[in-house]
Amino acid sequence: MSACPACGNPPERILDGPRLRPPHQRWWECRACRWVGVLYTHSGHLETMRRLQGDEADCVFCGWEEENVVSEPFERDGERLDWLVCLACGRSNTRRLGRMADPE
Ligand SMILES: [Zn+2]
Ligand SMILES: [Zn+2]
Repeated sequence: MSACPACGNPPERILDGPRLRPPHQRWWECRACRWVGVLYTHSGHLETMRRLQGDEADCVFCGWEEENVVSEPFERDGERLDWLVCLACGRSNTRRLGRMADPE
């Protein structure tokens, strides 16, 4: 990828260590505007990820702060989910969204 889809500057490969993410996912980050996305090599689909803020942005696996990004919400088996990935350690998690009146 030669140009960031958001600002046109050249993005950098991230999470490209052998154990970080599966090889069919190519992760890119733009240092200029902080855009992050993942390119799926089998489909050519590029998904833009959204940075989280506050406590949600801190990785529960490795403890790095401000490194979590999430996908657009999607539905599976009637549940609304999103997909959270830590840009520091590459570990990921599916989150349940949109549940009503979750007790504390
Ligand atoms: Zn950019
Ligand atoms: Zn992490």
